[in-house]
Amino acid sequence: MSPKHHPDEATLLSYAAGSLSAGAKLLLDCHLACCESCQRKVAQVEAFGGELLQAIPSAVMHRSIDQLLAKLDTPEQLQALQDGQANVKPHAPEWLPEWAQQLSPWLDHEQKDKDLWQRVAPGISQIRFDHERFAADKAVRLLRIAPGTCMPKHGHSGSELTLILQGSYSDETGRFCAGDVADLDPDIKHQPIADRDTPCICLIVTDAPLRFEGWIPKLMQPFFGL
Ligand SMILES: [Zn+2]
Repeated sequence: MSPKHHPDEATLLSYAAGSLSAGAKLLLDCHLACCESCQRKVAQVEAFGGELLQAIPSAVMHRSIDQLLAKLDTPEQLQALQDGQANVKPHAPEWLPEWAQQLSPWLDHEQKDKDLWQRVAPGISQIRFDHERFAADKAVRLLRIAPGTCMPKHGHSGSELTLILQGSYSDETGRFCAGDVADLDPDIKHQPIADRDTPCICLIVTDAPLRFEGWIPKLMQPFFGL
C-alpha cells in the first residue's frame, strides 16, 4: 500500500532524532510500517545524522549525549513496556491491520471488542491509552466514527497527529484512507466526515510537547529547507 498523506518533514526529523513523545512515536512506528516513502526519508536523515555526529566537537557532543540519556526510559518504564507487551494475544481485533500490530499490546485483550469501546457521542466511540508510558502526551486514543457521521468543527489547543487504521474520512484538507497521517498544527480548524461504507477507526495523538526539542532537528532543518 502507498499512503497519500504523510507526517510533516519536521515530525519525521523529530522521529529520527528520538525526540517525539511515546504516543507520537507509536503512531509514526505504525505509519512507517506501511509507508516506504517515509521509511526512505527517515533512513536518509539517520545516515546524514551519523555523518553530522562525526563532525561535531567532542564537548558539544558530550553535553548532547547527556541530554539524550536523560530522555531515555527508566528501568520502571521499560518494565511497564514489557508488561504491556506480555499482554499480546494471538487474536488481535479484526479491525487492527497487520501493519499496526504494535498497538495490540496497549489493548485489553481480556475484554470483548464491544466492551473495549466507550461511547462519547452519537456515532462516536473511543478507547483511551491511559498507560503511564503516554504521560507526556495530552491524549492517546483510538476513535471509531460510524459511517457517514459528521464530527463537530473544531480546532486544537496543541498539535494533533491522526493515523487512519480502517475506513476513511474527508475534511477541508483532503480525503484520508487507511495508512494516511493527518499532521495538524494548532491553528487548523477542521470538520471530518466519515465516508459512508465502513466505520472509520483512527489513532489520534494530541499535543506532543517534546516535538522539536531535540538539537538534531534544529541543526538539520536548514539542510532540509524546513
Ligand atoms: Zn509516509
